[in-house]
Amino acid sequence: MSQQRDAAEHSGAEHSAAEHGAAEHGGVRYDVVVVGSVNADLVVGVDRRPGPGETVLGSDLATHPGGKGANQAVAAARLGGRVGILGRVGDDGHGALLRTALGEAGVDLGHLLTTPGPSGVALITVGPDGDNSIIVSPGANARLTPADVAAAREMIAAASVVSFQLEVPLDAVLAAARAAADAGGRVVLNLSPPAPVPDDLLALCDPLVVNEHEAAFLLGERSTDDPEAMAGALLGRGVRSAVVTLGAAGALVAGLAGTTAVPSPKVEAVDTTGAGDAFTAALCLRLARGDTLEDAARHAVRVGAAAVRSPGAQSSYPAAGDDLPT
Ligand code: ADP
Repeated sequence: MSQQRDAAEHSGAEHSAAEHGAAEHGGVRYDVVVVGSVNADLVVGVDRRPGPGETVLGSDLATHPGGKGANQAVAAARLGGRVGILGRVGDDGHGALLRTALGEAGVDLGHLLTTPGPSGVALITVGPDGDNSIIVSPGANARLTPADVAAAREMIAAASVVSFQLEVPLDAVLAAARAAADAGGRVVLNLSPPAPVPDDLLALCDPLVVNEHEAAFLLGERSTDDPEAMAGALLGRGVRSAVVTLGAAGALVAGLAGTTAVPSPKVEAVDTTGAGDAFTAALCLRLARGDTLEDAARHAVRVGAAAVRSPGAQSSYPAAGDDLPT
């Protein structure tokens, strides 16, 4: 708890929460509340992947805490934010590991619920070229409900920014986004993995955060090869603002004033797993503290670049005060 209090003092959360009209939750205000998935990443290296009916030998199994929601919560907390999460883990060993990883980062676990049965897992094989093949088994993540959102309403209302991805059921995402917006919070949606979402959810997004594949999915026939045109076209889908991440090239920020390119620092990329989550977390935290979207993105590309310099997702995230690449 004292770690969390320190983080709150460090963050200037009082100021930002007041700006966004967020309520208090038992006297606590949050920079960022994440509504999302919590998964164990089970990683095995292989020379080649088995065909149907075939067995191959792989490397030792590595188990890492992951899930887009948990990654974002850990990244924002490590950067010094006061962060809460609404999500579900199973009552298995993975659930205990995932809870510990979030707690050690300083994330408020008051609404990390436990479901009988398995936690979400991502079964990841890594090929000889570092290429990933991933199967996600949602497990407890699939049991997050609008009733869970209702029970977490106070925490959501106490957040300056509420961050969403699409690894938990859409009805829970919708309920929480509406609750956040009703309370004056800022809704940030990462359309990942890409899935159709209703227009009234898009209308709450400020910003929508997508990579090029997700942008192309959302734009459908209106998609083009020109990322800048795509960023602008996303506004035509009704979002208030949009950020398109472009890997090593950085990001594009689109809003009423037009589209701005935000280049990423050049780094030697070792492992890009979870870079988008680190980017989005840093963006949310800076927005919570009152940055403009463009300024927040200028910081977020540095955090995203820092996250690709070492292996893993959460283990690669920088802490507040760490030197970031420029
Ligand atoms: P996603 O993982 O969601 O596909 P991106 O690959 O676009 O997202 O990466 C998100 C952010 O991480 C980028 O905007 C950039 O700041 C940083 N990043 C990703 N890959 C690299 C890289 N190879 N070099 C430098 N920065 C990177």
